[in-house]
Order: sequence, then structure tokens, then C-alpha cells
Amino acid sequence: MSKGTCGGNCLCGAVQYIVHKGVNDNLGAAHCHCTMCRQWTGGLSVTAICFPLSAVHFIVDDNEVDFHHPPPALKSYRSSPTYVRQFCGTCGSSLFFYSKENDRVDVCGGTLREVKELKITEQIWCENVIPGMEVGPTEGVKMFEKGS
Ligand SMILES: [Zn+2]
Ligand SMILES: [Zn+2]
Repeated sequence: MSKGTCGGNCLCGAVQYIVHKGVNDNLGAAHCHCTMCRQWTGGLSVTAICFPLSAVHFIVDDNEVDFHHPPPALKSYRSSPTYVRQFCGTCGSSLFFYSKENDRVDVCGGTLREVKELKITEQIWCENVIPGMEVGPTEGVKMFEKGS
């Protein structure tokens, strides 16, 4: 793996991916507290790290392929007219969400490996934070009641 590249996988390993960008060279990294992300993952929030679609590749049968040729285990669910959420059909890990209209994909940050440092820039949909969960404010992190 070259410098600045990071990889990730689902819980069972059926979905393996590589991001050809440093994890802090992202287009934005946010903790999202929206109800859809909570229900999708079962967590209280999702840490979404956005990359250009071309930066995210899969490893399928030891070969690297682009984002449009995922392994068969990767399943899709259209959660809104424009957004697709992708997850492992074997173990259920939530992995990616993206809009077909934009050339970018949000990676669920918890599936990345070997992340030593990650700069979060935003917290979004803070109006949906579950009472009792601390979410900041943190210096350098913008807080949004709804989406940014
Ligand atoms: Zn899996
Ligand atoms: Zn969300």
C-alpha cells in the first residue's frame, strides 16, 4: 500500500476496500446523528468520511477494481430517492453511502484500519442527538442542527 493510502473491511472480511487518499485528505469528515444513520448502523451516530468516488477501490479475488465493481457480498439499499447505502450482506457491517448525482462517497469511518489520526470537521443533525449523549462543542468542529 502506498503512502497516504488506507484500507478497510467489514466485520467478516468479505468486503475489502482501499482509499487512495490520506485519511485527512478527505472532502469532509463528520459525525452524523441523523435517525437514518442510527437505524442503519445500530449506533448512536456514524462517522462519515467523504472521498471522491475514484479514490475508493475494492479488492476482489486479490485484484484491485474500481468502486463500480464491488464484491458480491456488498449489498445496496436505497434509503431516499437519491441516496444509496451499502453494507455487507454476510455480516451486516455498514460501509458506504453515496448519492448517484455526486462523484463522492461517504465511508463509515469505523470500518477503516490503521487510522492513527483523523480530523473531524463537523457534527451534523445534532437536533437528533439522544439525550445524555455528549457531543461537544469541540474546538474546530462545526455543529449543525440539521445537515451541513
Ligand atoms: Zn462482512
Ligand atoms: Zn446521517
